[in-house]
Amino acid sequence: MTTPRVRVRFAPSPTGYLHVGGARTAIFNWLFARRMGGDFLLRVEDTDQARYDANALVELIADLKWLGLDWDEGPEKGGPHEPYFQSQRLPLYQAAARRMLDDGHAYPCFCTSERLEELREQQKVNNLPAGYDRRCRNLPADVAAQRVADGEKHVVRLKAPFHGETVFTDLIRGPISYQNRVLDDMVLLKGDGFPTYHLANVVDDHDMLITHVLRGDEWIPSTPRHILIYKALGYEPPVFCHLPVILAEGGGKLSKRKGAASVGDYRELGYLPEAMVNFLSLLGWSPGEDLEFMERDVLVEKFTLERIHPKSAVFDEKKLEWLNGQYFLRRDAAFFLPLVKPLWAKAGIEVDALPEAYLLHCIALLKDRSKRLTDFTDSLYFFRDPDSYEEKARQKQFGEGSAPLLESLISVIEGVADYSAASIETAYKAFAESNARKVGELIHPTRLAISGMPYGPGLYELMDALGKDTVLRRMKIAVEKISAGF
Ligand code: GLU
Repeated sequence: MTTPRVRVRFAPSPTGYLHVGGARTAIFNWLFARRMGGDFLLRVEDTDQARYDANALVELIADLKWLGLDWDEGPEKGGPHEPYFQSQRLPLYQAAARRMLDDGHAYPCFCTSERLEELREQQKVNNLPAGYDRRCRNLPADVAAQRVADGEKHVVRLKAPFHGETVFTDLIRGPISYQNRVLDDMVLLKGDGFPTYHLANVVDDHDMLITHVLRGDEWIPSTPRHILIYKALGYEPPVFCHLPVILAEGGGKLSKRKGAASVGDYRELGYLPEAMVNFLSLLGWSPGEDLEFMERDVLVEKFTLERIHPKSAVFDEKKLEWLNGQYFLRRDAAFFLPLVKPLWAKAGIEVDALPEAYLLHCIALLKDRSKRLTDFTDSLYFFRDPDSYEEKARQKQFGEGSAPLLESLISVIEGVADYSAASIETAYKAFAESNARKVGELIHPTRLAISGMPYGPGLYELMDALGKDTVLRRMKIAVEKISAGF
């Protein structure tokens, strides 16, 4: 028997933004498909019309593209199993439900929501497990058929077995079994003709020839239900692989309140998509060697399902930041130019009026010491005189004697003939020596005077980049301000 071509899917319900947990699921599916030379599908599970949010879908698609997770079949792309929106596939689910009714695996249920509510209340009061009491399961077939024919509102429920257990093998966790008595007669088709998640998910995974279902472990309790549907329809279930839970730092499941943000939030915070993909791929998987920084092609080459571990993973934002920094070290200034320009423009800098070579030079000086794109906006002193000085540094560096010191340094700089980082350095060192000062005593007040900040790129490189005139002007402004007591 030949092994079928690997086909996996990411099947989001567009009810909100793409969160990091969902992105991790998408990434694992994508990596597996690419590793195996298979297909990655995007299927929109939009059957919950009440919670549907059109804007969320637009954002979700944009986020997947930003992460570089291209799909082989799905919205915008099409494919042999179109449409890829569940809301456009209703006849398929209705046909499946009909078949289960005809085969005696399902039955129409006419219980009203009031009755179900009452039932829930009673079960609660009597400390009984919640679940449908299967009243309509016992209706004589001809009575039920007549009520349906009369147009009475109903749902379609699965006839779940009363006894025994349903077992499935999770690729990571091994066999998982559920007592059938806890799996009540779930609804397959709702009163409005829409399928439930369970029915639509199974029908589509089968129709779309999905071989492996990789999804978050919060879906484990759904899987035995899916197995029952697969059985009722006579379908072979796919391989199931549930990804470990992601915990927030300090414990607890990652949630919006506990630091989980949407992918868009991380983009705004200045993370690169390659760092996000690298970081999220390590939440529940590792290549089995001491390797964390992995470019996309390395991830694809190393990814295997066998190396996904069941242990919960912790969302360590410091590590994400570190990884982002690693990409900053490895990418050149030209890579950053289109990403940083809009940030500087937003901060009011007329970037288009500046020579590109200057922008590239600024980026080159900043990128290795930056961890996020937003760090570039801490350095607007490349473009305008500082309008204030960082307070703590001001108190430390601009005290008594600072004005005359800066004045002396102004003379030193004026005297530098072939103005360059190296010649400024030589001049500063010579001044320090002849005045019995440490170079640090010169560097810190100079940096504060010309940038307003206590840290930044190497001072001499910065002075060189800004140019002699700008440096002298800013030094003089600082002298004036210090003398005037600010
Ligand atoms: N629509 C479900 C979700 O929002 C899909 C779960 C699954 O992959 O089966 O995550």
